[in-house]
Amino acid sequence: MAKLVLIGSGLAGGLLAAYLGRRGYEVDLYERRADPREGNIVGGRSINLAISTRGIHALEQIGIADEALQHAIPMRGRMIHDRSGELHFSPYDVDPKKCINSIGRAALNTTVIEAAQRYPNVRVHFNHKCTEVDIESANAQFETAEGAVTARGDAVIGVDGAFSAVRKSMQSQIANFQYDESYLAHGYKELTIPPGPDGSWRMEKNALHIWPRKSFMMIALPNPDGSFTCTLFWEFEGPRSFATMKTDDDVRRFFDEEFPDAVSLMPSLLDDFRNNPTGSLVTIRCAPWFYRDKACLVGDAAHAVVPFYGQGMNAAFEDCIVLDECFEEFPENRERAFAEYFRCRKENADALAELAVGNFIEMRDKTASKTFRAKKKLDHALEAALPGIYLPLYTMVTFTRMPYAKAAKRARIQDALVYASLFVIAAILVAALLWLVAT
Ligand SMILES: Cc1cc2nc3c(=O)[nH]c(=O)nc-3n(C[C@H](O)[C@H](O)[C@H](O)COP(=O)(O)OP(=O)(O)OC[C@H]3O[C@@H](n4cnc5c(N)ncnc54)[C@H](O)[C@@H]3O)c2cc1C
Repeated sequence: MAKLVLIGSGLAGGLLAAYLGRRGYEVDLYERRADPREGNIVGGRSINLAISTRGIHALEQIGIADEALQHAIPMRGRMIHDRSGELHFSPYDVDPKKCINSIGRAALNTTVIEAAQRYPNVRVHFNHKCTEVDIESANAQFETAEGAVTARGDAVIGVDGAFSAVRKSMQSQIANFQYDESYLAHGYKELTIPPGPDGSWRMEKNALHIWPRKSFMMIALPNPDGSFTCTLFWEFEGPRSFATMKTDDDVRRFFDEEFPDAVSLMPSLLDDFRNNPTGSLVTIRCAPWFYRDKACLVGDAAHAVVPFYGQGMNAAFEDCIVLDECFEEFPENRERAFAEYFRCRKENADALAELAVGNFIEMRDKTASKTFRAKKKLDHALEAALPGIYLPLYTMVTFTRMPYAKAAKRARIQDALVYASLFVIAAILVAALLWLVAT
C-alpha cells in the first residue's frame, strides 16, 4: 500500500488520517505543535465551534460521532441581544430538533487523533514543523528540536490550515498555480463569560447568542463547564475600532455602551481584552489543489473561509469523506483520485466562501431587524407548508449535505420565486382595492 505523508494534525488532519488508515494506507501524520493531550491547547483560535450535519456525518462514517459529541451542547437558534438588553429568540429551523452543536476544539482534536491512532498503520509525529515540500519527489522537510528531518512518501497531503506550508511549496513549484487571499477589515478577539457560582450557565444555554451592532457584533457559544466563549468581531482600524482601544477605560466604556447586558457577566473582560490576541479573518482560494499523484490539499489549506456560517470545519470534514471516496473509486490511480476530489470540491468551496462573507452581514446587521425576523418566519412557514420543496438557505447549508453550490443556487431561485409571488399578491391586492374604491 502507498505511503502517505500528512502535514498537520488539526481537525481535518486527524480525521483524514483515520479515514486513510482504515483504507489501509501507511500514514505518517506530522504536526508542528506538541501532543494536545499534554495540555497544549490550540492557541489563538476559537475555543469552541459549531458542528452540524456535514461534520457529524463525517464523524459517524468513521464511528466516532457519539464519542466526539458526548459533551457537545445543542444550540437550537439565535438569541439576539439588542442594545437595551431585550432578547429575541429565532429558531434555526421549523423543526425544533434541528440544531447546531457547540463543541470544544481541543477535545474534538484529541478525539480525531485518537481515532487515527487506533489503526496500527497510522503514526503521529508531534513537534515536527514542515518547512518545505519537494512536490516532485513527495519529500517533506521538518524542523524539530533534534534538528532537520526528512520524510519520504508516495504523496504528501497538506492538511496544515490556512497558512499551509504545503500550499506555499506548491505555489512556488507549480507553474500557473492560482492563489488569492482576501482579508476582512474586521478582526476577532475571544472573551469569556464564566459559569455562575453553582456551575450553571448565566444565559440561555441552548442558543448561539448574538449582539448585532450593524458594522460589528459579538457572539457567544456555550461550553460544558457552564462558561460561554464570546467572540467580538470588530474593525481593526477606524474611528471606533480595535485600534482606538488604548486604555481599560476605553474598553469598559465601549462595552458599557454596546453590550450592557453582557458586561455584567464578564468579570475578566479587561484582562481578556488586553491579553487575548486579535485574530484576522481570511478567505483563501487556490487552484489546483493537487499535483499529479504527488501532492494534495485538504481543509483550510485548500479553502479557508471566514467563520460566519460555522462551516469551515464542517467543510473540511466533508473533504475527508470525498477524498476517501475518490480513493475507493480509483484505487490504482492516485492522480485521478486527487483530480476527481478537486473537481467535486472546488466549486462548493468557492460557494461556501461567498456564503460565509454574506452571512457576516446577516448576523451583524440584519438579525437585529424586524424585517429579518419576519423573513425567517416566512421561510419557516413555507418550509412547513411545502416540505421537501422549499428549503431555507440556512437549512440547506447546515442541516443537509446538499453541495454548497447547489444550495446557494437553489436559494437564489427560491428567493426570486417568493419575491415574485409577493409582488403579484401585492399587485392583486392593490388592484382589488382600486376596483372597490372605483365601484
Ligand atoms: C474564530 C473562528 C471560529 C470558527 N468557528 C467555526 C465553527 O463554528 N464551525 C466550523 O465548522 N468552523 C469554524 N471555524 C473554521 C475552522 O476552525 C477551520 O475551518 C478548521 O479548523 C479547519 O481545519 P483544518 O484541519 O483544515 O485546519 P486547522 O484546524 O487550522 O489545522 C491545521 C493543523 O496544521 C498544523 N500546522 C500548520 N502548519 C504546519 C506546519 N508547517 N507543519 C506541521 N503542522 C502544521 C497546525 O498546528 C494545526 O494543527 C472557525 C474559525 C475561526 C478562526
